[in-house]
Amino acid sequence: MANPFEVAQAQLDEAAGLLGLEPHVHAFLREPMRELTVRIPVRMDNGKFQIFTGFRVQYNDARGPNKGGIRWHPEETIDTVRALAAWMTWKTSVVGIPLGGGKGGIICNPKELSEGEKERLARGYIRQIARFIGPEIDIPAPDVYTTPQIMAWMMDEYEVIAGRHQPGIITGKPLETGGVEGRDDATARGGMFTLRECASALGLELSGARVAVQGYGNAGQHAHRLVTELFVAKVVAASDSRGGVFSEAGIDATELTKHKAATGSVVGMPGTQPIANEALLELDVEVLIPAALEGVLTEKNAANVKAKIVCELANGPTHPEADRILFEKGIYVIPDFLCNAGGVTVSWMEQVQNAAQDKWERERVVKKLDEIMSRAFQEVHRMRTERGVHTRLAAYLVAVKRVADACRQRGWV
Ligand code: NAD
Repeated sequence: MANPFEVAQAQLDEAAGLLGLEPHVHAFLREPMRELTVRIPVRMDNGKFQIFTGFRVQYNDARGPNKGGIRWHPEETIDTVRALAAWMTWKTSVVGIPLGGGKGGIICNPKELSEGEKERLARGYIRQIARFIGPEIDIPAPDVYTTPQIMAWMMDEYEVIAGRHQPGIITGKPLETGGVEGRDDATARGGMFTLRECASALGLELSGARVAVQGYGNAGQHAHRLVTELFVAKVVAASDSRGGVFSEAGIDATELTKHKAATGSVVGMPGTQPIANEALLELDVEVLIPAALEGVLTEKNAANVKAKIVCELANGPTHPEADRILFEKGIYVIPDFLCNAGGVTVSWMEQVQNAAQDKWERERVVKKLDEIMSRAFQEVHRMRTERGVHTRLAAYLVAVKRVADACRQRGWV
């Protein structure tokens, strides 16, 4: 698989060329402003110590404090975290919320950790990075394999160190510890708002449309429920790391979520046939939703994609070469950092709520999310039409220009 940070840099390079960025501004935006690698000793349940490695990358905070999730993954690398931190910078910019971009990660396999080990790892990570983060500096959040419970432990550890309440230190918290209504499905819901705008721009009817969902975690499961609830679309295939399932008649979201909760996987869902993850990506559907990990659409399989819209809830699912192929085939890709910005947008609302010691209702959150996502989609779609470029590049042109302008206005470059 290509190095995700090289992918992120290649995407920026193309935008920088089209924007005519000065070489020093381009060079500044090509690398993170600050990055940390930490070692976290954790006493395991067997009494022995294990040393974990963690990262926190603060990519660019010209537009506001750095913001980005923490991933727990056995194959986490600093380059993955750098790439994701870059994408967070463009993401907060493209939706126009006053935040920068950051990301964190710990190399670990959470499936092999007990609850106690997870808590000690979460607290240990915060002890290592506490002096470099803060509600006005850098605000972590959940991401792959991290949960609201993990966020609550992390917030608590930070507050112990700070000696006062600081709920705005972290977002994606449970409701009783300062979380916001609507964060649970915010990423998928925001993606669905961009999908609705996109379908309307293309004149595509979403009612009855066939949808394939790759990755059946937080983002994928909510996307399944929401395409059914909001558009009466039909999910014909879904997959996770163990394999996929297919049914021409459509798969019920509640039943599949129950099956996954009971068995640990979508595989074996009654009334479905097995389908390989690779085949799912090439299915004859109207909408393909990659909601797993990066690097799944490449120059090898892009030509076989049949969907009309690729709705990228996952970060970095499409390689640059695949972008060009999909564009030439007339497939509309709603790029990751626009499509999945609903999560960070609602996280920002959580911070605003925490700073004001307020409590927002779900309707207020959903309405504001719709406004922000729809406006962002329209701005990017306009840029795509004006410049005749693929949507990811159009989104980069909007986002990078804003960050570059903020860096110049501050006198940094
Ligand atoms: P998650 O851990 O809840 O789910 C990930 C899912 O992907 C799991 O079901 C896993 O089995 C599946 N998966 C892993 N490898 C796979 C493979 N090779 N093929 C098919 N499925 C595979 O994570 P999530 O929070 O849903 O995040 C998914 C993606 O969305 C990530 O790229 C993440 O960065 C992005 N994202 C999530 C959020 C959020 O708020 N949850 C926000 C922005 C972006």
